[in-house]
Amino acid sequence: MRSTMGSMPLSVGMVLRRGIAMGPHARLVGYTAAGRDARTWPELAARAWRLANALPALGVRPGDRVGTYAGNGLPHLELCYGVPLAGAVLQPVNVRLHADQVAAVVAHAEDRVMFVSAALTAQLAPIRPTLSSVRRYVVLPDGTEPHPDFADALDYEQLLADAPTDEPAEVDEWAPACLCYTGGTTGHPKGVVYSHRSLTLHAMSGLFVDSFGIRERDVLLPLTPLFHALSWGMPYAAALAGAGLVLAGADTGPATIVRRIRDERVTVAAGVPTFWLAVDQLRPTADDLASLDRILCGGAAIPQELIHRYHARGVAMRQGWGMTEMSPSGNLTMVRRHLEDRSDAERLALHATQGVPTAGVELRVIAPDGAVLPHDGVAAGEIEVRGPWVATSYHRPDDDANSTRFRDGWLRTGDVGTVDADGYLHLIDRAKDLIKSGGEWISSIDLENHLMDHPGVAQAMVIAVPHPTWGERPAALVVAAEPVTARTLLAHLRPRVASWWLPDVIRFVETLPTTATGKFDKVAARAQWRDILAD
Ligand code: ADP
Repeated sequence: MRSTMGSMPLSVGMVLRRGIAMGPHARLVGYTAAGRDARTWPELAARAWRLANALPALGVRPGDRVGTYAGNGLPHLELCYGVPLAGAVLQPVNVRLHADQVAAVVAHAEDRVMFVSAALTAQLAPIRPTLSSVRRYVVLPDGTEPHPDFADALDYEQLLADAPTDEPAEVDEWAPACLCYTGGTTGHPKGVVYSHRSLTLHAMSGLFVDSFGIRERDVLLPLTPLFHALSWGMPYAAALAGAGLVLAGADTGPATIVRRIRDERVTVAAGVPTFWLAVDQLRPTADDLASLDRILCGGAAIPQELIHRYHARGVAMRQGWGMTEMSPSGNLTMVRRHLEDRSDAERLALHATQGVPTAGVELRVIAPDGAVLPHDGVAAGEIEVRGPWVATSYHRPDDDANSTRFRDGWLRTGDVGTVDADGYLHLIDRAKDLIKSGGEWISSIDLENHLMDHPGVAQAMVIAVPHPTWGERPAALVVAAEPVTARTLLAHLRPRVASWWLPDVIRFVETLPTTATGKFDKVAARAQWRDILAD
């Protein structure tokens, strides 16, 4: 017997047609040095179709990689659609990577054509001679003059103006649509290839009410860059919902974030905790954030106190857990029905966990010997996941990490934690960040959260440093929010953690190093403060 259902591919083309079908009501807004620009979904679709039709003339064939070197803006959004619609593979390059990392990623991906925003041409100019796979450059307008080294580049607007206007032919749902690289927080960036199907299913999950819950009436502000797992898939989820989208451009300082939320009536904002810590320090009022219903925050653990402070301003903070290999969304926090009668504080504490898997994502806890551990909130092990938008290998078959990061169709996340009987994930640490003291584990995430609960602490990072007796001991690096001493912070920690968890040293610093995706960079910090105990 055969199914009698249709075979319409789950493709980026289908996602965009949904945006068109929802009509011209939602606003897609982009900010650049030239100011504010806006389009509707039908207008954006018309331009994305032109872009797709223009690519073959640039020598782009199905499966070829098309790089982007740009911040969040409307042309970049058009590329998110136009490149996959042409059967080619979008490859957003992280503009915060060092020159040698950019060269390594572009060579690894074999980008054929590179779209660069005008403002970033000066930054790319010195690297350009090393990008030997790239045959053509196209400059995206942003109100600034491109660097003279890009005088030979094509102009994006001209490219679109000359292109045919018809809808491109449908692409197979299993075809590659996007090649994203991991942030490289724990090693060299690794390439993950999203298919049309995986992008579409992941975007659909963004509309599940117990996931991002994106609706037609929402206006989304993705602060996470498009080069970081496609801004968590927001461009596609927004089209499926017919929602509005605000692309903030280069200026994502806290004052600008608050202004954009207010001016654009943003209802859902998304980004890593560092954005929300910075916004919090401006002490915005409930009125400043009146339109904002919720913040989707993930990529690193959220201090509990931050969740409380936004709650007091009428904004829900929901924590997501995932990674580039998961497109990136795996878990999101929610208050499950049978936990609803708990106290306010207990319900808010659920948002300080790493949440419950989204429908479609399967998760298990694995002991070092490979045994599957119970979900009892006690048994700790490596978290493994699988699902239709979870990778089962990296881009190149010969990538060494293929044998260490995947087994039997499961992704080994490298994150260590427990899952409680209600299904909530509690991350203890990344395996590489765990502090192994005298054969026991200390969770840097827990210590950081407790430190950041203290009003004197703006930011805290806890790292493992070598110790002659214990192997490793925790050292805390703290950016103070107000005058505070190490002794006060130790007194604050003492009732909250086991005594042998107390950091051997608390050092006050001006800033903490961050990675190219805006997370705290523990690899850099461990190198810099390796000898902190001897100082
Ligand atoms: P990179 O590994 O280079 O930072 P990703 O951006 O894909 O690249 O990061 C994924 C990792 O971020 C996860 O494996 C996990 O360690 C961490 N992470 C993501 N979300 C959370 C969260 N809510 N709490 C704690 N850690 C998180």
